Amino acid sequence: MEFLSIPRATLALNYLDTNSTTHASPFSAIAELVDNAYDADAATLEINLVQHFGDYYLEFKDNGTGMSQEEVAKTILFGHSKKTSEKIGRYGNGMKSGGFNLGRELFMITKRDDIYTCLLISHAFHADNEITDEVLCPCVSMDNYGNPMENTARKFPWTLEEHEKELEIIMKYAPLRGRSLQEMLGRLTDKTGTLIIIAHLKKTGNDGKMLGIALNGNDIETRAEDATQSERSLREYLSILYLYPKMRIILCEELVEPKKICANWIGRYHSDMSASPFNDGHNKNVADTISVRDRLQQQINGYTTDTQYRNELAQTVDQVKSTRTHFNRILTPLQADLATCERILQDLQNANRKKTFKVIMGCDIQDRENNGMHFYINNRLITWGHKSAIFRSNATNTLGISLYVNVGYDVFSPTHNKQSFESQNDFKLLVKKCNALLNIYQKVMEYQWIPNHLKRQWNYQLKQDEDVWAQFWLKYGYTDATTPNLPRRALTDEAKRMVVKFCGVWLLCQSCKTWRCTDGTIPPREHPYFSCTAIHKVCYPSRSFVGTDPETKVTQVLPAQAPLPPPPVTPARRIVFEPRHQSPVDRMAANRDLGGRRMAERSVEEARRHLPRIKRTPTPEIDVVGEVEDEDSQPVEVDPTDFDESDPPGVPLIVKNEQVQVRRSVEVVDLVDDEEEQADDDQEQEDDEERVNNVQEVRPQKVYAKKPAGTKVSRRRQHDSSSDDSFGEEEEEASPKKVKTEPSTSSQRLKSTVKPAVSRPGAPDGQVLISKEHLDNYNQFLVWFNTTPISSGSKRVIDVAQMIETRQGMINREKRTAVALGDLADRVLDEFQKHSRATGIRVPARGQFGSALERLTTVNANITEAKRRKTARK
Ligand SMILES: [Zn+2]
Repeated sequence: MEFLSIPRATLALNYLDTNSTTHASPFSAIAELVDNAYDADAATLEINLVQHFGDYYLEFKDNGTGMSQEEVAKTILFGHSKKTSEKIGRYGNGMKSGGFNLGRELFMITKRDDIYTCLLISHAFHADNEITDEVLCPCVSMDNYGNPMENTARKFPWTLEEHEKELEIIMKYAPLRGRSLQEMLGRLTDKTGTLIIIAHLKKTGNDGKMLGIALNGNDIETRAEDATQSERSLREYLSILYLYPKMRIILCEELVEPKKICANWIGRYHSDMSASPFNDGHNKNVADTISVRDRLQQQINGYTTDTQYRNELAQTVDQVKSTRTHFNRILTPLQADLATCERILQDLQNANRKKTFKVIMGCDIQDRENNGMHFYINNRLITWGHKSAIFRSNATNTLGISLYVNVGYDVFSPTHNKQSFESQNDFKLLVKKCNALLNIYQKVMEYQWIPNHLKRQWNYQLKQDEDVWAQFWLKYGYTDATTPNLPRRALTDEAKRMVVKFCGVWLLCQSCKTWRCTDGTIPPREHPYFSCTAIHKVCYPSRSFVGTDPETKVTQVLPAQAPLPPPPVTPARRIVFEPRHQSPVDRMAANRDLGGRRMAERSVEEARRHLPRIKRTPTPEIDVVGEVEDEDSQPVEVDPTDFDESDPPGVPLIVKNEQVQVRRSVEVVDLVDDEEEQADDDQEQEDDEERVNNVQEVRPQKVYAKKPAGTKVSRRRQHDSSSDDSFGEEEEEASPKKVKTEPSTSSQRLKSTVKPAVSRPGAPDGQVLISKEHLDNYNQFLVWFNTTPISSGSKRVIDVAQMIETRQGMINREKRTAVALGDLADRVLDEFQKHSRATGIRVPARGQFGSALERLTTVNANITEAKRRKTARK
């Protein structure tokens, strides 16, 4: 038997098998055939798995546009497609690769313009005739009554004999299940449509006898063992196959209800992503289109040459005419294709690579195991549940977290089997970028959305250290937040209400095919017939459905940066006062166990406890620096209004302490016991001797200071000026505004009245007096200290404050340690002299703390006492 004139696929039959193995699962092969119907603009597609005498047949019947003879002829050419970039099945490969993945016999009847065209690709036929090196595809056309029709897509002129020969093969090998061909043609009841029957379904399993798919009620299941429940069901897969479905799919005589991929996502956010970085696939696309164009051009050239050759051979005018008619039929569509190709190429080259696409994120609360990244290209699901780095590294907190992207062909292309991206470079980049978004999203959810949701909707306040996710999942029926395949408990009524409230019920309008988010008031039985008008929305049946993105209207924009974790809620810090009988030695020893910082804080805090005893009149702009006593030693409040506004800025303070030497650093000295401190004291002695020469006696009575500009106010201090008692968690609330609104004079304004120093008798030998004046000055200093903003030297100041605190305790409790006061005051002053240079704030003059002689005596006595005590202890 010879089949010279039968149209031939350009490749050997085993290529079909190789080609079809690219499908990882039978569902993706089925999806290819679904795509064909989708691209043919079918309104309805019926998929059936039929059993006949122990054999299974898979049938796909759609009422799409059907195919002309030329188009059928092209389906058996590899790599050819008339489908433009708007279509999903760009490569025209779907029917072959999908079909031959499922079975070994493929029979197609398609109807258009009242012409039925049948095509058979059969392994059995090739085996029986020992044809191995080419694929013969019998193809016949008939009219409504089964009368033979000329096949106009033939390279060689059509004859009736060939028609009958091919029809014979079809009748013999086509999977007609005992029916006549006429009966099969009659199944295409619509004006146009296509019926594809796949027979001799491939078997898998160890014994090779089990089908890869099985009928399960009104569903088809795959037998793949590693599939999750939703990956196992064809119905589930088809329900999300298209982001914007426009075709009703009837699977095993039951309608597949389309499901919006984000229908059960709570806490939805979206973000825009620029298409410009994804160039790899685009460049390939351009190259591909150019090659298709070149091939078309070659074909046209070939046919043109054929025409010329035949014309030369022609004997009669009629022969010339028939040749011309024949080749025009072939050439016209080719030229149309070439024009389309040119247009696509132009579109690609002019494509706006700057455009953006939407990335939508959410948390799947219906089935959290379905999490991952879902990628659609041109509305068609390509990759489902892809797990990027965040899902692997942070598995416990990413359950349910999902993302989907729908991009156009102008940005990405799928591989031929439409199971992944053609450009893996682009895909990796996309996953990386999506991963970054999910990182932000996860933190937004954990730190903001879920705590707010629990608080506002569930009236549940998270406690300290409570697992946000665990509490969240508990509300939605999962008893823990870490086990992926944990069985879910039935939702409470409240949870169901939340699901409806926050996820909405997504329904597809049957006339305009737009997704609408409804409030759940439409009863489920009306879902398949839902229309926009049911929720009083305008319906536009003629609108192009692809690209409408209603979900961005109900999502929030994802922030560009991840939020910071909420501050830990710590109980207000409490200062524990040691019992009064505790000696300073014990106290210092106890303090040493605390960290240095902590110790300083404690000391300052404790020192402040004593402050309320001193009257102060703080004002927003003028801080009272000091408080003086009048002649009768009665406290007099400083009048803050007694501020000399006329005093021009920059006028130096009338204190004559410019010459005062400043010590480099101040150590906290424990007078009572320490070897090192003794050495330090020796050093101090020398310092003091020097200092004495420089000190002049100036006694300011009133010192006012205005906060200079740029002075950084310690938060702690700022806080304290408003409240002396509470301390701790409100620290964070120190308002930076307050600093800004302070007067911006560059120099401080001070006013001081200088009084001549009161002459004082020296202390008697061997006896150290703590004078009232000392204490007054000390208190005065403390007021100043606590009301003056301090700057970056605050660490030092805290040291000083700690020292003050220590000393004050000693003065108050133990008179014998009061000798340190004079020394202390000097140290403090030194420190503040230094400080005043940095901040421009003047400090009280040194002289007010006593005469040089007295101080020297004090220091000497101090050291003697310390030494004496030390030896006594030994
Ligand atoms: Zn509508």
